[in-house]
This record gives sequence, C-alpha cells and structure tokens, in this order.
Amino acid sequence: MEPTATPATSNISVRRGEPLVIVDKVNKHYGELHVLNDINTVVNRGEVVVVIGPSGSGKSTLCRAINRLETIDSGSITIDGKVLPEEGAELAKLRADVGMVFQSFNLFAHKTVLENVTIGPIKVKKLSRKDAEKKAMELLERVGVANQAQKMPAQLSGGQQQRVAIARSLAMNPKLILMDEPTSALDPEMINEVLDVMVGLAKDGMTMIVVTHEMGFARKAADRVLFMADGQIVEEATPIEFFDNPQSERAQDFLSKIL
Ligand code: ADP
Ligand code: MG
Repeated sequence: MEPTATPATSNISVRRGEPLVIVDKVNKHYGELHVLNDINTVVNRGEVVVVIGPSGSGKSTLCRAINRLETIDSGSITIDGKVLPEEGAELAKLRADVGMVFQSFNLFAHKTVLENVTIGPIKVKKLSRKDAEKKAMELLERVGVANQAQKMPAQLSGGQQQRVAIARSLAMNPKLILMDEPTSALDPEMINEVLDVMVGLAKDGMTMIVVTHEMGFARKAADRVLFMADGQIVEEATPIEFFDNPQSERAQDFLSKIL
C-alpha cells in the first residue's frame, strides 16, 4: 500500500472571508459560441468552490480565464484586489499567485520529481537550490510521495504524478489553486489518494476552485457548488442544497445522469 497523504501541518496563512477572486460580468465567445455568458461570482479567501456541469458547459474555459490562459471579451477578473491585465510583466506576477492542476498531470518528463517541484521556486522566486529542495521535500512529504523524489515522472503511478503536480503548484505559494478535473484521468483505485490530498488542502484553508464530478469531495470539502450549463452559472448553492435539492431542470437532469 502506498502511504496516503499525511495531514499537513501547513503554513498557509489564512484570512478567511475576504474576496480573493472576483469574476465580474465575464463574457467570452469562440466564434458564434458564447462560451462564458455573463459569469459573476466571488470566491472568498479560504473558500473551496466546486464547479460542476455537463461537458462543454465552459468549466475549463472559466478556469483558464481566471488564470488568463484565455483572454476574455468583456468583464473583469480581480485576484487579491488586482484586475488581471491582458498581458505583460504584471500578468506574469499575478499568474504566479494562481496554482493550476490539470487533468493530465503535465509534469516535466525529463526532470526528476524533486526537480519538477524546485524549478519554479528557483527560476521564478529566485530561491536557492538548497532552500527550494528543503521546501520541495516538505511538500512531497505532505502529499505522500517523498520517497519518490529522485525518480522520473514516468516511473510513478498516475495518482503519484498528480500528487507531485499538486506539490509543484504549492511550491509557488499560490494564493489560489485551480484544479480542472484533477482525478478524471486516473484509474479508479488512485482517485482517493488524490482526493485525500485535496481534502487536506481544503481543511488547511487553501482557496480552491475545483472542477470535478467527485460528489464525495464536493460534499466533504466544498463550501459552494457552481453548476454551469451552456456557458452560464445556472445554480450556486451549498453542496447539500445542490445535491439534495437541485432547483433547475438542467441540474436535476445532470445529477440524474451522474449519481
Ligand atoms: P468544459 O470544460 O465544461 O467541458 P470547455 O470550457 O472546455 O467546457 O469548452 C466549452 C465549449 O467551448 C465547448 O463547446 C468547446 O468545444 C468550446 N471550446 C473550448 N476551447 C475552444 C477553442 N480553443 N476554440 C473553439 N472552441 C473551444
Ligand atoms: Mg473541461
């Protein structure tokens, strides 16, 4: 058995309750397709928001917009009091505040696990190798893969790789972590080891926006569920309200298919 993540003694500074991410009247089109249709939401510090909805509803586009991997046509996205600019050095700085974990783990294949976690802090945050490695080992410990530090990503299971990807994003001390279907590419027996790490982060007060259809995670960790369909936020509710008593026909229909 692989050791599961140790509950972290984390150093995330928590000031719960203030708005950290403000998405204000955001619109985006791909040609004729209105992929984000007047999206408004606020994510407070320490909040965990689960985004759920049918395929093609705009969930990934919303994540990518919040990280400015996609431009938007109108509206604004504010992170920690700063409106995301279109481009430039200021954007790079703001983007470094946002960790991103993708469905496909996106580790650097030709670097060891440890190097994957130290490269950002060394290159971007200008940490010394020694300090970066010390911190990386703590984070790898926290996600339960410290014993894999010298291996190459391909030598690890999918669940281990995704936990490394989470450690790598934490290494940058992000203010927010965006996760886009972080367990969708995993074999079923590896899903829980990643979800456990995510629940641990949530408990430690990390602000998280997580696209997932894992109801167990949503019920355990989410403060709020956003249900998206056709580029719109159709419902916004607590997990209990949403799963036990969805209001819209779209949500009822969607839940009947996945539950
Ligand atoms: P979800 O993550 O909810 O499945 P996406 O945000 O990936 O949805 O996609 C929303 C819609 O936008 C889909 O219809 C998809 O085909 C379309 N789309 C996504 N990216 C692009 C792109 N780069 N160019 C054109 N259409 C896109
Ligand atoms: Mg998607």
